[in-house]
Parts: sequence; structure tokens; C-alpha cells
Amino acid sequence: MSADCLFCKIVSGAIPSDIVHRDQQVTAFRDIQPRAPVHILVVPNQHIASLGEVDGAEPAVLAALFRAAAAVARQAGVAERGYRVVVNTGADAGQSVAHLHLHVLGGRALGWPPG
Ligand code: 5GP
Ligand code: ZN
Repeated sequence: MSADCLFCKIVSGAIPSDIVHRDQQVTAFRDIQPRAPVHILVVPNQHIASLGEVDGAEPAVLAALFRAAAAVARQAGVAERGYRVVVNTGADAGQSVAHLHLHVLGGRALGWPPG
């Protein structure tokens, strides 16, 4: 846990959020500013700053992130129509929270490539 990290505080419950999935490795909660009808963030419970920092992470944590992304998409009812999983990394991609997170977006047709 990183003391001044927003998503660490959400994982610990210090900051409330709409949690949709939680297990030993990961927590998933609704994005506060949804960009699609379904917009869920999946984060490791341990602090990993970005995709660039996954080298030291347990492979089980990385597997759990993707499993949870698929599970919350199914749970939200978008698995059949389709959804997108996005990991913004660094300034050019617009990463605004320095705790690794998968965006799970669905419920509408999504443009490609992203702007
Ligand atoms: P990024 O821009 O780093 O890829 O994504 C960060 C996401 O976190 C944004 O989509 C933003 O709306 C979301 N976010 C920022 N602060 C909060 C918060 O306090 N609660 C929740 N649930 N989402 C947040
Ligand atoms: Zn963190």
C-alpha cells in the first residue's frame, strides 16, 4: 500500500467506491466518471504504479487482473456484445492515477482507434 495513492485507499476502503468484484489479488469498482454505460476499473490490491512496473509483480496477480476483467464484463452483461480492456500507461496515454488499472468499457459501440 502506498500512503498517498487514491486506488490504494479505494482498495483499503478508506475512500468509498462502488465495488463490483473483490478477491485476494484484485478489486474492481465503477469508474466515477464513466465513459461508457459500463465502465469498471480493475486494480491489483497491492500497489503497482503502472504497466511499466509489472516486472516485480506475481504472475498470479497479473492473471487475476485479466480474469476479473472478463468476470466483471460477464457480470455487467456486456460479454456477448463485446467490450474493451484498456491500460493507459504514462502521460501520452493520459494515465492520471499511478496505480495499475484495467478499464473495462462496454455497453455501446466503441470507436477505433482511440483519439
Ligand atoms: P486513467 O486516466 O489513469 O487511465 O484512469 C483513471 C480513472 O480513474 C479515470 O477514468 C477516473 O475517472 C477514475 N477515477 C478517478 N478518481 C476516482 C475515484 O475517486 N473513484 C473512482 N471510482 N474512480 C476514479
Ligand atoms: Zn496504489
